[in-house]
Amino acid sequence: MTTAAQRFATEGFGPENLPYASFSPTGARPRLGVRLGDRAISLGELATGVEAKGGPQLAATARTAADAPDLDALLAAGHTAWQPLRAWLQEVVTTEGLEEVVEAASTPVSDIAVHMPFTVADYVDYYASEHHASNIGRMFRPDQEPLLPNWKHLPVGYHGRAGTVIPSGTDVPRPKGLRPEPSGTPSFGPSRRLDIEAELGFVVGGSAPQGEVSVARAGAEHLFGVVLFNDWSARDIQGFEYVPLGPYLGKSFASSISLWVVPFAALAQARVEPPSREHELADYLDDSVDGPWGLDITLEVVLDGESLSHPPYRTMYWTAPQMVAHMSVNGASLRPGDFFGSGTVSGTEVDERGSFMELSWGGKEPLTLANGHEQAFLEDGQTVTLRGTAPGANGSVIDFGDCVGTIVPASGAAG
Ligand code: CA
Repeated sequence: MTTAAQRFATEGFGPENLPYASFSPTGARPRLGVRLGDRAISLGELATGVEAKGGPQLAATARTAADAPDLDALLAAGHTAWQPLRAWLQEVVTTEGLEEVVEAASTPVSDIAVHMPFTVADYVDYYASEHHASNIGRMFRPDQEPLLPNWKHLPVGYHGRAGTVIPSGTDVPRPKGLRPEPSGTPSFGPSRRLDIEAELGFVVGGSAPQGEVSVARAGAEHLFGVVLFNDWSARDIQGFEYVPLGPYLGKSFASSISLWVVPFAALAQARVEPPSREHELADYLDDSVDGPWGLDITLEVVLDGESLSHPPYRTMYWTAPQMVAHMSVNGASLRPGDFFGSGTVSGTEVDERGSFMELSWGGKEPLTLANGHEQAFLEDGQTVTLRGTAPGANGSVIDFGDCVGTIVPASGAAG
């Protein structure tokens, strides 16, 4: 006798992780599943199989959501559905005698197509790394303090474009727009300073129609899961347009997410103290309750197979529950599928920077790749892969899977 976990788990995708995706076996309809090792398990088929075998009962609140094609129903059902579903899944894959039921409901990940895991409701992009914000401040405003006066009092953010959050593996056409020129008159054409932003993305579930979600409630009831997030950015378009209202077309053309949503609950072992805060915070941002809320997740930025940096998420000044509390403190509602990016993750070291803007210091210090090629920003045909890992329960590793995108030439005539 054995268990499904013993039979199928691999490092990074054991029973401690069990990330969710919407997937299709070849030619079949999309279904909600979880990943165990190199198998994608259909939750609806698994529930049916376990019921037939007389195995552990799945709570009624989660049964309907398990049959859905993606995470939308589970996010709408809220934490009272997703907590028992995860507990049931962990029990099923670690119970002897159910491994054949698990196998029958599963498909090798090499034989599936993976889709957007949920419908993005509202999307907010934060700016929560002190090192990234300071680096950008030094480049954009060299004659001023790198951090603006508000930065350590609230998590700075802006509303982005939900409809252009795209699944990993989708090509990214080089965006076009107005680029600043030395003459002062901008020119229209493809971005010459196309960049990445290595971030985490947080998936929100449940509803809060009146907003005002506390840090404690955000963590316990609304933070469903975490993905890797590449918030592609056209620095020339951004640099010209961003005053006075902030980023717009330089960001809204595409933002890629990894396909397997790691449950926030899988990151319990990765929780660490955030950096100490310079100012006393407003009560609604006090995240010392039920903490710590920092996350020890190490990202990796890979360009065409070459590893360029390892941004450390544990250095982020603002935590995920603070960002939820902030976006709702004014009474703004939360709804299932709300999504927010952390902001580019950068550490103190050069090889911990999460954007080419920082790695090449605004283009002034181009990178030299292993093949000798020098570049400051992304070129057509190049592929960026983000990876991420965190410590999991029982000494395990939590793997986020890859977030991949390839730059393809701008549409139409070159500018
Ligand atoms: Ca961003």
